[in-house]
Amino acid sequence: MTIYQNLIAGEWTGADAVENINPSDTKEVVGLYASGSAADTKNAIAAAKAAFPAWSRSGIWERHVILKKAGDEIMARKDELGALLAREEGKTLPEAIGETIRASQIFEFFAGEALRLAGEVVPSVRPNIGVEITREPLGVIGIITPWNFPIAIPAWKIAPALCYGNTVVFKPAELVPGCSWAIVDILNRAGLPKGVLNLVMGKGSVVGQTMLDSPDLAGITFTGSVGTGKRVAVSSIEHNRKIQLEMGGKNPMVILDDADLNVAVEAAANSAFFSTGQRCTASSRLIVTEGIHDRFVAAMTERLKSLNVDHALKTGTHIGPVVDERQLKTDIDYIEIGRQEGAKLAFGGELISRDTPGFYLQPTLFTEATNQMRISREEIFGPVASVIRVRDYDEALAVANDTPFGLSSGIATTSLKHATHFKRNAEAGMVMVNLPTAGVDFHVPFGGRKGSSYGSREQGKYAAEFFTVVKTAYTLA
Ligand code: NAD
Repeated sequence: MTIYQNLIAGEWTGADAVENINPSDTKEVVGLYASGSAADTKNAIAAAKAAFPAWSRSGIWERHVILKKAGDEIMARKDELGALLAREEGKTLPEAIGETIRASQIFEFFAGEALRLAGEVVPSVRPNIGVEITREPLGVIGIITPWNFPIAIPAWKIAPALCYGNTVVFKPAELVPGCSWAIVDILNRAGLPKGVLNLVMGKGSVVGQTMLDSPDLAGITFTGSVGTGKRVAVSSIEHNRKIQLEMGGKNPMVILDDADLNVAVEAAANSAFFSTGQRCTASSRLIVTEGIHDRFVAAMTERLKSLNVDHALKTGTHIGPVVDERQLKTDIDYIEIGRQEGAKLAFGGELISRDTPGFYLQPTLFTEATNQMRISREEIFGPVASVIRVRDYDEALAVANDTPFGLSSGIATTSLKHATHFKRNAEAGMVMVNLPTAGVDFHVPFGGRKGSSYGSREQGKYAAEFFTVVKTAYTLA
């Protein structure tokens, strides 16, 4: 079997490889992907450092053309790349193709942003002096990504890094190297000079840790768990390095008595269970007021009965498998914890067997949960959600905000008063009214508050905050 290698200083390299396994069919090996060493990582960082002076001064048209070419190729190959994504991560094929299209759109957006770089010229408070404010590239950027969005998250970090003139060392998650390899191959063929974008696949404890220990990374943009994010933060203080961290969530979805029941059920089912609940923006706390509680639980249970859990590539599958055995064990452990804490299992909770051996779990809904239970406080990251019954809007808002996280917060209501109040008072980076907590646009800021995020926002023009550094220049006229 071919080994998909690492790209270091413009050369494909690496003989040690690991199998990329399909969670819908564990007999299928998606491919063999290189597993880099600490030495590979150091070489990649040195290559990115050597490439920085020239790339940071490259023309904006050159950057535009490369990013545009990459976006166009991803779009042209959306079905093939979507199938690869579905095979390595387990999202359903329509979800995977949608994510691939998103990656293409992100490259298109930043191809445009490259042409819109601008600064400010302002008068000085002193006579005969001019002041210019410009943005310059930061330097070598370390990019560390999680497994749950194998193509969109790499795209939304790589595209702005290159757009603003930085060079990159990119380490994808071990479970999903395939889509990362594919976009690096596309960008490499699109004409990036050697060393500008380096790919080092491999273990977090080896490749990731070597990146954290390097004094040569000017910035690290990380998406993943809270624990790893904290390691990135601590190491970065020592190296005086800029960081952007996107971490966990325990996103609330409030359902008020006056909600349109269909809208509420669709938003809640999507938020909690689509993409197998493996989204940082997934909602696992459904906070429901008394007047609609029983009707909501009944309608939600009916909706869950209609969702097919099966092979990600099969037509008609609504929910694919859990990503791997370890995550499946975490999900099952939390289902047991929920039972022991006294929540009532209203639907699911069981493993399912299908034609192919995979990590299939029923969508699982608890009722009679409280916000103090571990299932309501800790991120599970699987198809498991709990209904928390509350008296009224005020209690719903208080419960929604009573969490260490703050990524996305949703409300289903027909009341303008409550929707407006919620938008202002939800302690989250993103607020959704009558929409799922997951599902965002690519041209506007993405990020959270409290334990969910640290540093400036990703995506849209706000990405410039992280990927550039501001310079103020004074000139005597
Ligand atoms: P993870 O923290 O285990 O891994 C993330 C990345 O960090 C991987 O590439 C991993 O190899 C690397 N890593 C692990 N140990 C490292 C170390 N010592 N040094 C450097 N890098 C290291 O997270 P995961 O399980 O891949 O992803 C799931 C988590 O990601 C969930 O908590 C989820 O909420 C979060 N997530 C957040 C967002 C967001 O935008 N807020 C988006 C997607 C996922």
